[in-house]
Amino acid sequence: MMWKMKSCPKCNGDLYLDYDEDGMFNHCLQCGYAGNIDPGCLITDKPETDRQPAMASK
Ligand SMILES: [Zn+2]
Repeated sequence: MMWKMKSCPKCNGDLYLDYDEDGMFNHCLQCGYAGNIDPGCLITDKPETDRQPAMASK
């Protein structure tokens, strides 16, 4: 689990990152803020299972 201290846009409290199959979310401990994180800028470790090498025979 990742923490982002004092990063809540509402109360400047402590956020922690959580994720499920839909994406990643910020949760604030202090005020209960929950926000989506744009997956385009953070997630880079997804397996590229849908990309098949076209010339894998060589
Ligand atoms: Zn907050």
